[in-house]
Amino acid sequence: MSTPPKVGFLGLGIMGAQMAARLVRTGANVTVYNRSVAKTEPLRALGASVASTPAEVTRQCDLVFAMLADPRAACAVATDGPDAAVAGIAARPATAAPITYVDCSTVDAATGTFVGDAVQAAMRETAAGDAGGGFLAAPVSGGWRDCRDGTLLFLCGGSSAAYEAACVPHGLDAMGHKRWLFGPTPGDAARAKLMLQVMMGNIVGSLAEMMALTKASGLDEGAILDVLSHSAMGNHLCTAKGALMREGNFSPNFQVYLQQKDLRLALQLADDLGVPAPISAAANGQYIRARQMGLANADFAAVRAAYEAEAVADKESETEELN
Ligand code: NAP
Repeated sequence: MSTPPKVGFLGLGIMGAQMAARLVRTGANVTVYNRSVAKTEPLRALGASVASTPAEVTRQCDLVFAMLADPRAACAVATDGPDAAVAGIAARPATAAPITYVDCSTVDAATGTFVGDAVQAAMRETAAGDAGGGFLAAPVSGGWRDCRDGTLLFLCGGSSAAYEAACVPHGLDAMGHKRWLFGPTPGDAARAKLMLQVMMGNIVGSLAEMMALTKASGLDEGAILDVLSHSAMGNHLCTAKGALMREGNFSPNFQVYLQQKDLRLALQLADDLGVPAPISAAANGQYIRARQMGLANADFAAVRAAYEAEAVADKESETEELN
């Protein structure tokens, strides 16, 4: 019987926990790391090994995935100090195969380039060198259910060697059902993913605005959502998030703080490119407001509260004027 491939996973948040579990179920020999140790327990129970540092994972595993919150987290896990992933890469045994490090986090191009360069530099310090494998940026579209079911969409950027090493039955092919290689650099993937996040943040922001107006108009929210779903504007996202907004159910799938991070990164990109992005800028302000209202870790449908807070504030100032 052949030895199961050694796969590593760094970051067991809402997405990472399900992606790592999916890899365990494919029969891979999975080693996981998470900053908060408690989140490793369900994976241990499934049969994964638990490492206490990212370096321990990259020292042992030939294919390593990272699924971390934001640029700061992606850089910290990959490069900060002697326990970081790149330290483990540099310490790989002379007999080890070249590693492939796949960062699935949604970050900006500069972060992808920084982490990618650090990985390739660490690989050059090893006997295997950097011929084969390497760094791939592979942010995803889809939610935790897609992680569980293996139906994620991967938006990739990196060398063809890294892409080929990642597209294996115990890698991207286990977790996703479609993938695209946007170009040879991590920035190609980062920019592609931010295009989708502009749409998502703006659509859900618009939906929240519609719901706040519906309520203020005294209209039946269920009926308006029903019409929307049958109209040309109807889509899965509006149906799902509209129902959650109506119920006030904001248990997190994709958190407010992450959608706001994505709009912030997209606005930085728009600024760099000199492209006006006024709709995204307005929506970003509402997600910032939701964070300020203590909703950072609620599902991003909770941005509805930011639109309703404004309606209340306006009414209050009107009352003051009348008095
Ligand atoms: P999450 O549940 O908030 O998990 C974030 C992960 O990052 C956790 O493992 C967390 O560790 C880790 N982390 C945060 N800061 C860190 C730091 N400074 N050092 C080390 N680890 C750190 O987020 P998620 O929903 O899984 O999302 C992960 C990534 O996927 C994000 O980039 C997000 O934008 C993207 N994404 C999410 C979805 C979705 O539907 N949720 C869909 C597509 C893409 P702790 O557990 O210790 O906090």
